[in-house]
Amino acid sequence: MSTYTAPLRDMQFVLRELAGIEEVGKLPGYEEASPDTVEAILEEAAKFAAGVLAPLNVPGDRQGARWQDGEVAMPAGFREAYAQFIENGWNGIGSEPEHGGQGMPKLVVAAVQEMWKASNMAFSLCPLLTTGAIEAITLSGTPELKAAWLPKMIAGTWTGTMNLTEPQAGSDLSLVRARAVPQGDGSYKLYGQKIFITYGEHDLAENIVHLVLARTPDAPEGVKGISLFVAQ
Ligand SMILES: Cc1cc2nc3c(=O)[nH]c(=O)nc-3n(C[C@H](O)[C@H](O)[C@H](O)COP(=O)(O)OP(=O)(O)OC[C@H]3O[C@@H](n4cnc5c(N)ncnc54)[C@H](O)[C@@H]3O)c2cc1C
Repeated sequence: MSTYTAPLRDMQFVLRELAGIEEVGKLPGYEEASPDTVEAILEEAAKFAAGVLAPLNVPGDRQGARWQDGEVAMPAGFREAYAQFIENGWNGIGSEPEHGGQGMPKLVVAAVQEMWKASNMAFSLCPLLTTGAIEAITLSGTPELKAAWLPKMIAGTWTGTMNLTEPQAGSDLSLVRARAVPQGDGSYKLYGQKIFITYGEHDLAENIVHLVLARTPDAPEGVKGISLFVAQ
């Protein structure tokens, strides 16, 4: 028996009566988000959360991730669940259609994400981090960066991380010391130590894309001198 049942009636009520999903669906770019489509998406997400993610929650915590032979192995069932998750298109639900996403409004994505979080927090952090990395590249990446990274990240065959924290830099990121040294061809070599990186290593995907905070050689002290790098 599943330990999770999505509060679908409450979610539908909030989306329709309070948040105005019908009006949002009339905005340019959101035409696919008709009330019927949104209802179907929420129902399918509820089934996936209850049927696939929730049953892995307790066993996943008990077994945990394991470091073996230089790699991190996820708990039993996580690989199959992740394969199903990306096969169903859940990873790119809110991302730009131009790069393979479904372009759903944040309003819908938030309801779906709540189901992933509530049914299995440990699993949900992987797509959460990937979505954050996708958003950062979408908002600030060059067209070349977007073309190179977004399609696979949105499809979920590559996942993403955020590499901010260092032993001396947690809450106060102005203390970041990681160095980015230009190689003369537009790329940089990164040096330094990062800690506590969620889904920084795992066996769910072909590749892990790290978004790394670091300083270039002539960068000023403090937060103003920090840049963000995409590392494969
Ligand atoms: C489960 C988990 C996952 C994480 N995932 C990631 C990740 O994916 N990527 C990543 O980069 N980092 C990650 N982190 C690191 C996280 O961002 C840092 O732990 C966080 O920023 C706090 O830094 P710190 O641990 O060095 O604590 P510190 O900054 O040393 O803080 C220690 C204590 O001092 C308090 N404190 C700090 N500064 C002040 C202040 N100015 N005034 C008053 N009190 C203050 C804090 O509230 C805290 O109680 C993760 C951490 C955890 C626990």
